[in-house]
Amino acid sequence: MTSDEPEKQVSGKGSDERQLVNEAPTSEPQPLARHSSLVTCHFSIITRSPEETVAFGRELAKELQPPCTVLLEGELGSGKTTLVKGILASLASVPEDEVTSPTFTLVHEYGPEGKLYHVDLYRIEGARDLATLGLDELLNREATVLIEWGEKFGEDVPRPCLRVRFEHLGHDERRITVERQT
Ligand code: ADP
Ligand code: MG
Repeated sequence: MTSDEPEKQVSGKGSDERQLVNEAPTSEPQPLARHSSLVTCHFSIITRSPEETVAFGRELAKELQPPCTVLLEGELGSGKTTLVKGILASLASVPEDEVTSPTFTLVHEYGPEGKLYHVDLYRIEGARDLATLGLDELLNREATVLIEWGEKFGEDVPRPCLRVRFEHLGHDERRITVERQT
């Protein structure tokens, strides 16, 4: 898939009604799960509420096989933590209200076996700061590591991962672009 392809939208009010819908008028609504090539392509969707972003996080979670790093990029308030709520709800049954950006602690660990981490690099300044964090060790584990402010890694990402970029389109609209890095 290329970035020239039509943008897609997540729609539906409840978790049972989620659908990924092509904007092209001829296409039928398709369940997101049918996009099993999710992690091998580059595509964008638009969500129109936090609930839709959480729902998309739940769907994205189904595609994450550890070891796996997810770099979440975009300005403050663009929806990174909201997506993480959906991913953690799906992978570890974490209640949404227990998920916050680990802005001060930097790393939150979930699950019984140390296999799921939520990292926030907001306060990290530069490669030197990054090196002192001990993230290398985390990234060498058979774990799923979700990293907010992933752009702070630059191009130096140590293993295959997804890059997920968030753009604030105004009001409650967000464009979320998912790209696999090899
Ligand atoms: P970040 O982690 O990128 O700083 P958060 O996910 O913490 O952002 O915050 C996003 C804010 O925007 C929340 O207050 C959320 O309710 C609101 N919001 C409104 N519309 C959306 C949307 N479509 N997707 C995600 N968040 C949204
Ligand atoms: Mg956040």
